[in-house]
Amino acid sequence: MSDEVENKPMHFIRQIIAEDIKNGLPPSSVHTRFPPEPNGCLHIGHAKAFCLDFGMAEENGGLCNLRFDDTNPDKEETRFVDSIREDVHWLGFDWGDREFYASDYFEKLYSLAEELILAGKAYACTLSAEEFKEYRGVPGKPGKPSPHRDRPIEESLDIFRRMRAGEFEEGAYVIRAKIDMASPNLHMRDPAIYRIKKAEHHRTGDKWCIYPMYDFAHCLSDAIEGITHSMCTLEFEVHRPLYDWFIDNTSILKTLKVHPRQYEFARLNLSYTMMSKRKLQQLVAENVVEGWDDPRMPTLSGMRRRGYTPTAIRNFCETVGCTKFNSLTELSLLEHCVRQDLNKVALRRMAVFNPLEVEIENWEDGKVDMLDAVNNPEDESAGMRKVPFTKRIYIEKSDFMENPPKKFFRLTIGNEVRLRYAYFMKCKEVIKDVDGNVVKLICTIDPDSRGGNSPDGRKVKGTIHWVSADSAVKCKAMLYSTLFTRQDMSDLPEGSDFKDFLNPESLVEAEFYGEPALAEAKAGQPLQFERIAYFMADSKSGTSEKPVFNRTVELKDSYGK
Ligand code: ATP
Ligand code: MG
Repeated sequence: MSDEVENKPMHFIRQIIAEDIKNGLPPSSVHTRFPPEPNGCLHIGHAKAFCLDFGMAEENGGLCNLRFDDTNPDKEETRFVDSIREDVHWLGFDWGDREFYASDYFEKLYSLAEELILAGKAYACTLSAEEFKEYRGVPGKPGKPSPHRDRPIEESLDIFRRMRAGEFEEGAYVIRAKIDMASPNLHMRDPAIYRIKKAEHHRTGDKWCIYPMYDFAHCLSDAIEGITHSMCTLEFEVHRPLYDWFIDNTSILKTLKVHPRQYEFARLNLSYTMMSKRKLQQLVAENVVEGWDDPRMPTLSGMRRRGYTPTAIRNFCETVGCTKFNSLTELSLLEHCVRQDLNKVALRRMAVFNPLEVEIENWEDGKVDMLDAVNNPEDESAGMRKVPFTKRIYIEKSDFMENPPKKFFRLTIGNEVRLRYAYFMKCKEVIKDVDGNVVKLICTIDPDSRGGNSPDGRKVKGTIHWVSADSAVKCKAMLYSTLFTRQDMSDLPEGSDFKDFLNPESLVEAEFYGEPALAEAKAGQPLQFERIAYFMADSKSGTSEKPVFNRTVELKDSYGK
């Protein structure tokens, strides 16, 4: 085991692989796969799954395949294949030349199904979907065998071939494995393995009009690829005996060096977050959100657009670890991981959201002082930038109080504050409108305090941010909150719909003034607007005249509080 593994927290899958290695499995033989269905974009739950799949292979020097389980042509699309590839790469994983598709194996899977029929272990059945369910019965009571269960092998084979040739309508026949109609496990009660579906497939076009069922294709694809550790979520635990049955009853078994073993872990549920792909799809289709990559979506493309970093997401997945128990993970933990990374990598910028104009009385009109500002106090290599100081500046309204309470160290009349990177400033006069609202301040600066340094050792308690009113860029801010108001979206009250819990304030738009550098801000570069929040330029909207920024996360960390 490498040092890297030893430093990572132990969890049951790490433990199992370590045991296997102790029992003689060469570490580099660890072979996993991430098997998404290309019917939607990946979300943070999938990230947990593939961090585990790629992670376990990587830390043992083994291999991880990217395999698209594309057995349902109705819902699968090439654009989802592309987005999945992009997302896995974004998190820093690579599958080399091992990008596979269940559809690569359609011919092979077809022949394995024929094998089962020839061995008397599968048959053609004409029961309707309702009858199928009715015959299958309920747990605790044996099911009823299909009247076609003992159809002669030759007849089933003939039907299967004619199904392939397109001679029948959808639903006319299914091929079923002949296992055990009395099994306590319903999945073992003669499950369907092939169905007729006259649909265009995103890769095989109209070559096929029959498609293998997911359960049949999934485990056999694992076997074909020589997968050793096949990780998936808990709901597949009850499918495991079936998966083993398919492998053990076909000729694929003889080709195996290692029998694939499936291990199930609890899926990720995040508070205030909906993780069902079908429901996310619905939000997109009904325009509740802008698309799969809407920054409020739990998708990786949404998180990327919002400003979450791959490092933060990987740290989060490592922190959640993996267990056998379903639970609800706090969104604040994910946000905590995001802040931890952003604190290291975000460039600091100044922006004023609720501007109060300040006129510097002892500053010449038209004079511009280009001041040095640190890009990132956590990272010297991020360098410096220039910010212009001019006669008129904006500060936040909340940084001034005419009648302050005790311990208000920001700007008041007569009190001195430091303007970040600039000068010490004192307020001399307040200008109000007819209603008595403060509309402008007249201030003076100490020219000897340039850079915000005390000229004579005198101290100021407060430091506030500002932007030059003469050169500020007017920007748009997209202030995001959770998409849902309910903490546990995986467990909804009876009779309610998930959309009942949509947060009407999940997006609030605002305008603000930013320092000139914001005109050049690029999507992909995290920013911290000092004293406000982390932001990132939106990748889809905005111009240099009117940039658009997505609020990634607020500064204040509520995790564990
Ligand atoms: P569906 O099958 O309903 O379309 P899915 O979310 O299961 O949705 P897949 O593309 O089949 O989508 O998922 C790929 C892998 O990701 C599977 O192995 C699945 O177990 C895993 N996975 C899906 N959701 C989560 C989750 N919330 N937490 C952890 N792993 C997940
Ligand atoms: Mg699935």
